[in-house]
Amino acid sequence: MPAETLQELLVEELKDLYSAENQLVKALPKMAKAAAAPELREAFENHLEETKGQVDRLEQIFNDLDASPKGKKCVAMEGLIEEGKEIISEHDQSSVRDAALICAAQKVEHYEIAAYGCVRTFAQLLGMDDVVELLQETLDEEGNTDKKLTELAESIINVEAENEGEEDEGENDGEEEKSGPSNGMTKKKAMARR
Ligand code: FE
Ligand code: FE
Ligand code: FE
Repeated sequence: MPAETLQELLVEELKDLYSAENQLVKALPKMAKAAAAPELREAFENHLEETKGQVDRLEQIFNDLDASPKGKKCVAMEGLIEEGKEIISEHDQSSVRDAALICAAQKVEHYEIAAYGCVRTFAQLLGMDDVVELLQETLDEEGNTDKKLTELAESIINVEAENEGEEDEGENDGEEEKSGPSNGMTKKKAMARR
């Protein structure tokens, strides 16, 4: 049944998010297990706990709205999680794979930020203050997770991934060959400054 009112649209979008979050509760432990850097594993584990709390918040909202959370599958999240699985199966564990996992995870967070931003605004328009508050809490968690992933990428993972490439390629760097070990340091600083 297609949504004909803003409230029906809100419920449809919340069902989509409920499906998305439940898919993530299953996927995040696999992402955590695949991470090479302990900091990244910890970030995934922390967000798993937050995600379980987000499922609880959605259940509370459905309860308040006297609606069922079931009946919709978020096919976008299914696809994003599938891309994460591809990364895990196609690469061996390394900091390059960590960089790819962060990229996949940030795509997930951005989908969630967009979706929660929409439902939060719908609830605002409908004057549902309690629902707005709950959705805003989750929206903040998704935004903080996205920032945390960026910090990890900039401070550790991408730097290690970059150095890994240098070790593998050895002296095939052409004219940079003569500059020796300080080369890596320079790049590291350049990455940190971004
Ligand atoms: Fe979430
Ligand atoms: Fe969706
Ligand atoms: Fe999230």
